Amino acid sequence: MGIIVQKFGGTSVADAEKILAAARKAIRVQQQGHQVVMVVSAMGKNTDVLVDLAGQISSNPSAREMDMLLSTGEQVSVALMAMAIHELGSKAVSLTGGQIGIKTDSSHTKARIQSISTDRMRKHLEDGNIVIAAGFQGIDDDFNITTLGRGGSDTTAVALAAVLRADACQIYTDVDGVFTTDPRIVAEARKMNQVSHDEILELASLGAGVMHSRSIEFGKKFGVPIHVCNSASFSDDPGTVIGLHPESMDRPVSGAALTKSEAWITISHVPDQPGTMETVFSKLGKVNVAVDMIVQNIGEGGKAEISFTVLEADLPATLKAAQEAAKELGGAEVTHQADVSKVSIVGLGMATQTGVADRMFRALADEGINILAITTSQIKISALVRREQAMQALRAVHSEFELEKPPGDRAAFGDKHTAASPPSPIDIVARLQRMEDLTIENIQLDETQGRITLSQVPDKPGISAEVFEAVAAEDIMVDMIVQGTGRDGQANLSFTVPKQSVAAAAEIVSKVAEQLECGPVTTAAQIAILSVFGIGIRTHTGVGVRTFQALSQAGINVEMVGTSEMRVNVVVAADKGPAGLKALQTAFSDVIG
Ligand code: ADP
Ligand code: ASP
Ligand code: MG
Repeated sequence: MGIIVQKFGGTSVADAEKILAAARKAIRVQQQGHQVVMVVSAMGKNTDVLVDLAGQISSNPSAREMDMLLSTGEQVSVALMAMAIHELGSKAVSLTGGQIGIKTDSSHTKARIQSISTDRMRKHLEDGNIVIAAGFQGIDDDFNITTLGRGGSDTTAVALAAVLRADACQIYTDVDGVFTTDPRIVAEARKMNQVSHDEILELASLGAGVMHSRSIEFGKKFGVPIHVCNSASFSDDPGTVIGLHPESMDRPVSGAALTKSEAWITISHVPDQPGTMETVFSKLGKVNVAVDMIVQNIGEGGKAEISFTVLEADLPATLKAAQEAAKELGGAEVTHQADVSKVSIVGLGMATQTGVADRMFRALADEGINILAITTSQIKISALVRREQAMQALRAVHSEFELEKPPGDRAAFGDKHTAASPPSPIDIVARLQRMEDLTIENIQLDETQGRITLSQVPDKPGISAEVFEAVAAEDIMVDMIVQGTGRDGQANLSFTVPKQSVAAAAEIVSKVAEQLECGPVTTAAQIAILSVFGIGIRTHTGVGVRTFQALSQAGINVEMVGTSEMRVNVVVAADKGPAGLKALQTAFSDVIG
């Protein structure tokens, strides 16, 4: 007999009937001999209604009072749920985050969990109660009510499962599980039976709204088995199991996601020297804006351009911070484009296969979709497109990789280079002071790669498809890809390949460049890739800042950047690798094991 945590999302408790149905589910599990903790969200769209109400009173409501307001949504649900269970003849007690003892920091509206006391929950469970916990809320050291950020009830559920060492955490929602992409956008999307923590972490942070990405961080850190299933299903459909193993290591892509409302910011006329990245990203870090798709183009006369994406909602704060950085950098200029969206593919298998990127780019080119920017990490490729083409882009990549079919039925392609093994759980919990602390697993230096850069890439569909098809045809494994359209509408396209393949790749790309009327191709026979990796790298906005700061202080220029939930990868000159590694090890010594 163990503990089962069951979380019910807003649509699953939207009315009295649904609350009673959820109560029956919990009672059934208790009758099977388990202790049950329920986590419930605010009813239906209640949180949106409260946000809207606040907006009618004030255009800039205090964050503390927002938390006070929003936490009431969940308080309504827990009380009604307890009444429902009583009515059905079982024992239950409802608790707010504060009553449980969910301690958070004081960053209102996006608080992080520091610790959770299990005493009170255990006492009620021992007395035969179903414990009903209010999702998405906690309390800080001064007894202020805090909330964890929109969608945060998932995080409460997995965190409670972690501290209670529950046998399982069941997430009941309005879809049958985690799908290959949002089923509301792509009707053909298929439910995955199994997905690894790393894939769902990426998918969640790249726009798959089905799970709060911080809940997956807990799942991974504490080894909590998570099941996502449909609360409206009467069958015992197991939904999707989120755990160590992906559905298939043989097929490179597991899912696709869309972040619809992104903005693309470019700071141009920046001096190409150590410290510029730090200046820009420390300003953004101060206003707590998470940055993605960072691209640096080297222009003429030693001037560079730094471009990146942020959520469109963060655009006003970002522009203000970017203007300040530009002023500090002397003569730099800030431009932006707001009507853009990010389409991404994710899969553990792509780390070891050739011929993935070119297929994504070809699928987009065939639809006449121009790619404004490209960034990659080991297990994802993101492409920035115009928002009016975003849905079409998502459908195109979903269909290109045949995600509607079970992995075993998808056509095999590409060349498998190494037999990758599934990731293993990491033993970092013992080192954590606070539950949601940043955890850096390690810092690595990779000196096996070289770089190819194609300059003056014209701003039209199909160029990246041509380039990577030609490279894949020679069976050359591409690692990082970074491309971004700058102010003048032209882009640099840089990518890394094993250093023994640099000459061959450069020759192929030069031919393509000539046909497509691009500028010159330059290469670096060897480069150094420095990687800081762990859990929640992007949600902790300080990691990028600390990385750039450490390298700048060591006088090292950053040439390329790739970020993901698991990693920050930066390319520096080959001879700066060891010094860069040392600088990063020192910078992260307080959080590294
Ligand atoms: P809840 O209120 O239960 O927390 P959410 O609305 O937060 O539910 O999440 C469920 C919704 O997430 C689904 O209705 C679906 O439209 C959306 N979604 C986005 N991406 C995915 C995906 N990859 N798989 C499943 N659902 C997704
Ligand atoms: N009620 C909160 C929200 O709508 C938390 C949640 O449902 O997860 O964001
Ligand atoms: Mg949700």
